[in-house]
Amino acid sequence: MHISENIAALKKELAPVKATLVAVSKSHTNEMILEAYKSGQKIFAENYVQELEVKQKALPKDIEWHFIGHLQSNKLKQIIPFITLIQSVDSLKLLRDINKEAAKNNRVINCLLQVFIAEEETKYGFTIEEADSLLNSDEFMAMKNVCITGLMGMATNTADEKQIHEEFKTLKDFYEELNQLPETKNFVLQTLSMGMSSDYKIALQEGSNMVRIGSLIFGERIKKK
Ligand SMILES: *Cc1c(COP(=O)(O)O)cnc(C)c1O
Repeated sequence: MHISENIAALKKELAPVKATLVAVSKSHTNEMILEAYKSGQKIFAENYVQELEVKQKALPKDIEWHFIGHLQSNKLKQIIPFITLIQSVDSLKLLRDINKEAAKNNRVINCLLQVFIAEEETKYGFTIEEADSLLNSDEFMAMKNVCITGLMGMATNTADEKQIHEEFKTLKDFYEELNQLPETKNFVLQTLSMGMSSDYKIALQEGSNMVRIGSLIFGERIKKK
């Protein structure tokens, strides 16, 4: 296993552009996560609530956990007490429910809006127009227990690098547009989460400041049924 070497190499690459490394630990064991943790990695991401809950209980409490999968409202109460960032907010209803559950826990939960930039039909997320109108809605402005801190997007899984560049650029342009808006209590733009193992170099060229990397750190995942 070369987990700590992989992390060191990635951190070296990310430092000059000041991008944050999120280690995507889904499907990997606590032992592997601990190896990454001991090498100084403190931010990990999961995409299943149940798996995250089990790992969070067993692993060091100063790990910052991000959620990156499609999230069902009825599972929120399991992660709201400890989650650091929900990167995958993909509907107004979910944001509303996060706000509600966070209030019960006396927390303000940082969230990214997941924006749909890929060609594929299967990926969750807002269109740019939907995200824009959410951020401008009275309902959002009245939410006290969530803070939108940025955007997350996934490019199409394709060998066409030009297309990947274009999709990431679309999200970066929207991010810059939002950056013109005034900061408020629940809108503090700081994170543009784009790029995974296969496309993070392109994402960085297009202005990403947070990459979510799994297989390049931990190796191939065991496929879920
Ligand atoms: C699994 C996953 C990743 C990491 O994928 P790798 O190809 O293993 O780097 C990044 N982002 C999201 C949303 C994921 O579900």
